[in-house]
Amino acid sequence: MTTKFKIGLDYGGTKIEGILLDESGKEIKRKRFNYNQNYETGVDVIKNLVQEFDQFAQAECSVGVGIPGSSSQETGLVKNANAIWLNNQPFQKDLEEILNRTIRIMNDANCFTLSEAVDGAGSNYKSVFGIIIGSGLGSGLSFNKTIIEGANQVAGDWGHQPLPYPTQDEVNANVECKVINCQRPLCSERFLSGKGFAENYNKKYQTELSSEEIVNLGLSGDQRANNELSLYEDRLARIISVMIGIFDPNAIIFGGGMSNVDRLYKNIPPLLMKYTFSDKIRNKILKNQHGDSSGVRGAAWLWN
Ligand SMILES: [Zn+2]
Repeated sequence: MTTKFKIGLDYGGTKIEGILLDESGKEIKRKRFNYNQNYETGVDVIKNLVQEFDQFAQAECSVGVGIPGSSSQETGLVKNANAIWLNNQPFQKDLEEILNRTIRIMNDANCFTLSEAVDGAGSNYKSVFGIIIGSGLGSGLSFNKTIIEGANQVAGDWGHQPLPYPTQDEVNANVECKVINCQRPLCSERFLSGKGFAENYNKKYQTELSSEEIVNLGLSGDQRANNELSLYEDRLARIISVMIGIFDPNAIIFGGGMSNVDRLYKNIPPLLMKYTFSDKIRNKILKNQHGDSSGVRGAAWLWN
């Protein structure tokens, strides 16, 4: 098989996006489709996209797929997917049969991390920790531009660990995580995802604001919003410091909706000193370079 041209696919909950990269990593084609949220329709969309890109490249391109879960190395079945119709399906095997080639599948937070490590904000760093802070809190690790998947395929994915050094207020907030395999008190995702941040805020102040609206209130000088954002930054610093204590990544890269909050990059680095066992903080906290495109780009780079 020629791997001169690479196809990357990002399998989302409502849409599937595809990208075609040439051998230098330059994007030469991109397409996005909404699909009916069931297994068969998703497979069909992928089949059509790959056929179209193959024809355009006049070659059998390599195919990498990012999914909101993982394809179990043990059983070949998808697990932990929030696009629930993917769960327990032999997705990799089905795609390989239909596309008539070996494909690679990876968790979407890992694809984000890989994309930023290969030719994004982390391209000059040996170790990269990528964090997607959106409706969830997903993350991944890479070393020398290769993803570390881990024994359970959850390496670096620490978003469902309990919030470190909780205050009495945080304990009293009684957050509840409903995600299977978590359901633990003080789950960090319930405080730190954009959705969790807004939920806590709304519960505390009896409002119905989105995270974006709260951030904008802060920008306009609202004291309450700015206090909550300061708390948010402290919480994020606490959990990042745990990862520094374990993996000590050269670069920590934010993606997802909350990565657009500029104050995080200024306020979090000084807070890390409070919680890290080091004389100085050398880890860089960076905004992603490829934005929403990192999912498809990273999937394509699974063949590198
Ligand atoms: Zn959780």
